[in-house]
Amino acid sequence: MAETPATGSALALEPGPARVLVVEDEPKLAALLADYLRAAGHEPECVADGQQALQAWTERRHDLVLLDVMLPGLDGLALCRQLRTMTAVPIVMLTARADESDRLAGLELGADDYIPKTPFSPREVMARVKAVLRRTRAAAMPALPLPAPLQIDNQGWRARWHGRELDLTPNELRLLRTLAGQPGRVFQRAQLLEGLQGDARAVTERAVDSHVKNLRRKLELAGAGSERIRSVYGVGYCYQD
Ligand code: CA
Repeated sequence: MAETPATGSALALEPGPARVLVVEDEPKLAALLADYLRAAGHEPECVADGQQALQAWTERRHDLVLLDVMLPGLDGLALCRQLRTMTAVPIVMLTARADESDRLAGLELGADDYIPKTPFSPREVMARVKAVLRRTRAAAMPALPLPAPLQIDNQGWRARWHGRELDLTPNELRLLRTLAGQPGRVFQRAQLLEGLQGDARAVTERAVDSHVKNLRRKLELAGAGSERIRSVYGVGYCYQD
């Protein structure tokens, strides 16, 4: 079985080291991936199931998640879905099943790449990790430095406050983009709701309140103060510069 050589332009910038959460229940495979990641300059952390993965990610906010689909308990697809309600962290999925429907399911759930494990090539995994990091990190860099403390990168699904990354969920980012896009304008909950995506539970006006609450907390944690998104009683919300 031939190893796929690492691909990529020699001119492309190295994406740099990353903290990688490896979610794989087969110890030998996890150890092998960790060795390759370390050799590539990354810092791996291995966990063996979905619950450990959620806990590890919540505590340490890794730069990338390498996720096996076949896991005991919460499987990789379900875990991917859960992670995506919390974060836009790059996710690379691995699967023993070379099934196209799995691949599509993974990508639809928000995985950034999807790699079959048969034939297993750690070098290919490293090449994909590198490509995903390069892509997401390049997208995270704003095209132009803006004078405003808030920077939103629409392609990379990232936002920063004075250069400090706000770790937003896709819906929080959508809300922030809408509100901050027109500072001072009061948006009704129904208008904000239109911009959100999600399953049936997410599409109520109450969900807007809960996303705003989380968004405020994250802005405050990043030093933006607690009054950045103002409630307008009986109407909705407004972003203040
Ligand atoms: Ca597995």
